[in-house]
Formats: sequence, C-alpha cells, structure tokens
Amino acid sequence: MAKNSEMVLAIDIGGTFTKLGLVNRAGIVLSNNVFKTGAKQPFGEFTKKLTKEVNQLLSTIDSSDTILAIGIGAPNANYKTGEMINPPNFIWGKSIPIKKTVQDILDRPSYITNDANAAALGELYFGLGTNMKNFVVLTLGTGLGSGIINERQLLYGNYGMAGELGHVNVFSDGRQCNCGLQGCLETYASVTGIKRSVFQLLADRTTKSILRNYSFEKLSGEKISEAAHHGDAIALQAFEQTAKILGSKMADTVAHLEPEAFILTGGLSQAGALFLNPLNRYMEAALFTAYRGKVKILLSEASSKEAVLGPAALAWQGLNTT
Ligand SMILES: [Zn+2]
Repeated sequence: MAKNSEMVLAIDIGGTFTKLGLVNRAGIVLSNNVFKTGAKQPFGEFTKKLTKEVNQLLSTIDSSDTILAIGIGAPNANYKTGEMINPPNFIWGKSIPIKKTVQDILDRPSYITNDANAAALGELYFGLGTNMKNFVVLTLGTGLGSGIINERQLLYGNYGMAGELGHVNVFSDGRQCNCGLQGCLETYASVTGIKRSVFQLLADRTTKSILRNYSFEKLSGEKISEAAHHGDAIALQAFEQTAKILGSKMADTVAHLEPEAFILTGGLSQAGALFLNPLNRYMEAALFTAYRGKVKILLSEASSKEAVLGPAALAWQGLNTT
C-alpha cells in the first residue's frame, strides 16, 4: 500500500456476515475483513467482534495513512438517527445505536444508511451507475431492498425512509410479511419469496420435481436456479410467477420515477437470463406506452468483497458535502 494514502473505513452489516474494508477515493478496496455477524447473539458480542476486526484492519495500514471517515450500511438503518430500527432477523433490540458504537471504536465522522441505499451509492460512484443520473437498485436477497438515485442523489424522503419498495402491496390479502402487513412485494420477489412460491406450487400440483426433496430450510435460490436450468417445470414456473409480480411493480416504479435502469443484486438476481428475460417481458407489458423500450434491467457487477463499496461511497459523499 502506498504511503500517505487517504481512505475511509466501510462497514457492511448483513444478517449473516459483516464485511469491513479500507477503501480509497477511486473505490479500490485496499484491505478487507469478513466475520459472522451473529444476529441471533446479544449485541455486546457483535461489538466485541467488531472492535477486534476493526483494530486488526487498522494494523494493516501505514502510520502515514489517514482514515478520513466511516461509512456504514446496515438493515433498517436510519441515516438521520444513526440507529438500526427493529431489524427483522436480529435480536439486538428495537433501536440499536450502531453509529455511536462504531464511533466509540474509531472516532471519525460517520455516515450510516440502510444496506440497499448504500448499494445504490456504491453503483453511483463505483459501479454501473457512474454515467447515469436516475436509476433504482433492487437487492433481491432474504428480503427485497431498494435504493433510488434521483439526479445523482439518493432519495431519502421526509424522514429518511423513502423507497421501501419491498413493502408495496401486491395482493391485498396476500402472504404475511415480517413487517406485519400482508401481500408485500418482498414476500414474493426475494429468495425467501420464490421459496414460498415453490412450496405453494409443489402443494398445488402433482408434477415431478427435484425440489420435492428439500425442506424449506434446505431449499436455496441456487437450488431453484439449478433445477430451472435443467428444465424442472416447478422451478421454471416459480421464476415465471416471480418475474410477473416483480415486473409489474417495476413498471409502477417507472411511472413514479422514470429511471434509466434498474440494477439488480442479491441471490435471486444470480439466476441470470432465466429470471431477467421474463422480468423484462412482464415489465414491458405493464409499462405505460411512453416508457416502453427505454428502461434497462442490469445485473450489478460488484463482487461479494465489493459489498463495502456502498458504505465507502456513503462516507466519501459525506465528506464531500459536509
Ligand atoms: Zn412488508
């Protein structure tokens, strides 16, 4: 590593893994670390591990290097309060002072936002969005997160919670969502959502399927993709249904925002053309004529190590604007 480097500390807190990185202004990850988040263990355990891992990372840099700021992406994080608010799948409490916790470890200007917003900033500064003004990032993992870039700015809304597309309604009496509502988009269009669709199809039909061999816990997005690639009728139908629901809601989003593109990340997006082709077809079919043939659906090119680019972009942006 060159001496006198300027960098930011980026922290991406996920339900399973927490990723740390030191990232320069050009978006190069100079050094990185990954550890198990322990979402089902007390928050104090996480703080201990985070302290150890941050210190380990800091030991890799030269004394002439400067860490200018910290960027944090975390589920249900609010950039105004610096807290994670009741994140599903975590037992850390109703409001977790994550920004303060990080600043207690390393005292630097710190910026926090939810993981999908951070991913959108990562695409804006270092990814597919560098030449775009208006786009929407959809993270299709355990749930469905979204980050909206409008005129090269993240859309926050009045209280910092704009763009929760995972919780727009698809069916009024639809599937129960973790958020307490019924029929939310993420209960259909996410890895968990497509697993629920597979189990529903298996119950409704007598078709042979390799997917009958798995329990709900053992079934994964990759297994459904693999089955679909081998022509499994249930898996193909599950992708078709998911694409229909998501494509139609993306068309709604186009009517609100008219983005240049959607950028997809997360487990479900890894199915590739198998999912993108029907998704594009259903979105186009549901679009108002003025928008047809104009909105691209792209797959993020960021690797798993580069998950820290989102929080890094947030930190660099924070430094530029304050
Ligand atoms: Zn919901």
